Amino acid sequence: EAKAAGKASWARFEPRMRHEVVNHARLGSELHNAIIRHELYLAYQPVFDLVTGRLACVEALVRWNHPTRGNVPPNDFIPVAERSGLIVPLGSWVLREACTQLAAWRAEYGDAAIGSINVNVAARQLRDPGFVDEVTAVLADTGLVPANLVLEVTESSVVDGRQVRDTLEALHGLGVRLALDDFGTGQSSLSLLRAFPVDVLKLDKSFVDGICDGEDRGRLAVAAAVSQLAEYLDLYAVAEGIETAEQAERLRRMGYRLGQGYHLAKPLPPGEVAVLMTRPATAPVAA
Ligand code: C2E
Ligand code: MG
Ligand code: MG
Ligand code: MG
Repeated sequence: EAKAAGKASWARFEPRMRHEVVNHARLGSELHNAIIRHELYLAYQPVFDLVTGRLACVEALVRWNHPTRGNVPPNDFIPVAERSGLIVPLGSWVLREACTQLAAWRAEYGDAAIGSINVNVAARQLRDPGFVDEVTAVLADTGLVPANLVLEVTESSVVDGRQVRDTLEALHGLGVRLALDDFGTGQSSLSLLRAFPVDVLKLDKSFVDGICDGEDRGRLAVAAAVSQLAEYLDLYAVAEGIETAEQAERLRRMGYRLGQGYHLAKPLPPGEVAVLMTRPATAPVAA
């Protein structure tokens, strides 16, 4: 109604860019209220051991159930939140919620529960001087130990100078593990591995998409090289965005021990993750 009319009138006399700016500004102010109005929630995408088929851990992914727009995808609102600085309170909420959920699973299922949870962290959060203290406080409040937490950072957010490196080193020193997300898509992958304490490489989905394409030797080569690199550097390699059984099998044979993707499981509500934790070990997912 009003929203549709507003959209149409913008479209009539405004260039597309202007429309986007306005839309983002509105989205930004709505996001501001989203936390207190309980419009945000987390979905948990399982990461599986590709050899045993067991659930290894989960990645927490934020969701926004907007009262009129419905579900807004993170790729639409995370960039807005990053530009406005709202990513800092939003990210704080995600961190606390994810750790609270893991603590609840561990309290309920004990040894059957997963041992760690992956949380995405934006560049702005890493630059916040209080971030290490915040992580420490959340772990203490939820009763988790640092080894229960894996923070996913992107290459572009860690090429950010001295302060970010100090932050990552402090977190790593506590025992929190660090994963390089979307690995292979950045500019400086190899030098980064020596400059920062990295524990996990997450091969970006774009390379997984290419591995079964006989014509695309380039992406196959990157996927294979990242697996080798992880092995030599004694890091975990995780393949993300696995959509077919064939991809899972190829990646497993390439040396990927861990994988996530719609073929294995979509991002799930907590109750469905609990079902996976309590089911008996099944045949290897990739076999
Ligand atoms: P990401 O961290 O690389 O997360 C993986 C994304 O790939 C998720 O999208 C997931 O749902 C999607 N995905 C997983 N398997 C498949 C598959 O087989 N096929 C396809 N097509 N997609 C798959 P999602 O949840 O929409 O999140 C998108 C991005 O938004 C994330 O990419 C991450 O960069 C960001 N994000 C999500 N939650 C948070 C958060 O709490 N904080 C921050 N800073 N960023 C977040
Ligand atoms: Mg991630
Ligand atoms: Mg990723
Ligand atoms: Mg990604």
